[in-house]
Amino acid sequence: MKALVLERQHELAIRDIDLPGEMGPDDVRIRLHTVGVCGSDVHYYTHGRIGPFVVDKPMVLGHEAAGTVEAVGAGVSALKVGDRVCMEPGVPDSGSRASRLGMYNVDPSVRFWATPPVHGVLTSTVVHPAAFTFRLPDNVSFAEGAMVEPFAVGMQAATKARIAPGDTAVVVGAGPIGIMVALAALAGGCARVVIADLARPKLDIAARYQGVIPVDVSKEDLAARVSALTDGWGADIVFECSGSPRAWEGLIALLRPSGVIVAVGLPLAPVPLDVALLTTKEIRIESVFRYAHQYDRAIALMASGRVDLKPLISATFPFEDSIAAFDRAVEGRPDDVKIQIRMDAA
Ligand code: ZN
Repeated sequence: MKALVLERQHELAIRDIDLPGEMGPDDVRIRLHTVGVCGSDVHYYTHGRIGPFVVDKPMVLGHEAAGTVEAVGAGVSALKVGDRVCMEPGVPDSGSRASRLGMYNVDPSVRFWATPPVHGVLTSTVVHPAAFTFRLPDNVSFAEGAMVEPFAVGMQAATKARIAPGDTAVVVGAGPIGIMVALAALAGGCARVVIADLARPKLDIAARYQGVIPVDVSKEDLAARVSALTDGWGADIVFECSGSPRAWEGLIALLRPSGVIVAVGLPLAPVPLDVALLTTKEIRIESVFRYAHQYDRAIALMASGRVDLKPLISATFPFEDSIAAFDRAVEGRPDDVKIQIRMDAA
């Protein structure tokens, strides 16, 4: 099968590669239609590794995917040939203790697309468990279907926050995930979401959504703005989506007593935390690793019209230009949110 293969750090190729294609009774085979380019795919390309995960042999990239079912295993009843679907890229061991407890996203044995040594889906077809494959309603496009994966991270963050109706949230970092978190927080009941960043173009994109208040932290003091908006009380929730150790310095000061910090971004270095301040305000800290049980509800929100992710798709490349798509993602244009690849020609 033709695929976009990361041969090693800095080297991509479109070439034939042998991929596992054997179907079990509970699997479906999907012809891929659209695959989004994720920050993690780009990081493997530019750095060859993410933490302990090292690309030490050629690996197909891509894990944000939608397509059409073209074969179903004998034991599959919930899906049929021709269904338009999107897929959860992480498949846990269903018998593991974490899976049995419902937190399959932190199962140590989870196999996640385009995380070494597991191949991704920038190719023509993939075999996947039906249990991790979700039908798309007619009014949700393939392009939107491929956005469900990053949006599910926002859904997980909003769920972990335990939002109450009318809450005020702050999102630090207006990258793709920060914007997804802001939209999930609004859909989850926040009255308003302050989103803070240094990059004006992405703030402007986020600000097109009703309820989002952009704060350009190169020009404005975030704490003063949050204080003014909440009559000095503080925000109910802060979502840290920048991954910047420095961003953590002022987080507790943004919160009301007994507010919550949700850690979404992954800082590359340890972060100092003022535990005394944390304790005297009784701040709760939650963290998010990918997602569990979010796909069906993410799709329901998109189908209802409550969440529109289409404005976040900045550019779409045909598969034969997928190396150009990655090079554009590496450029990191300030007004690019999500770049996608159409797989029709794969
Ligand atoms: Zn992703």
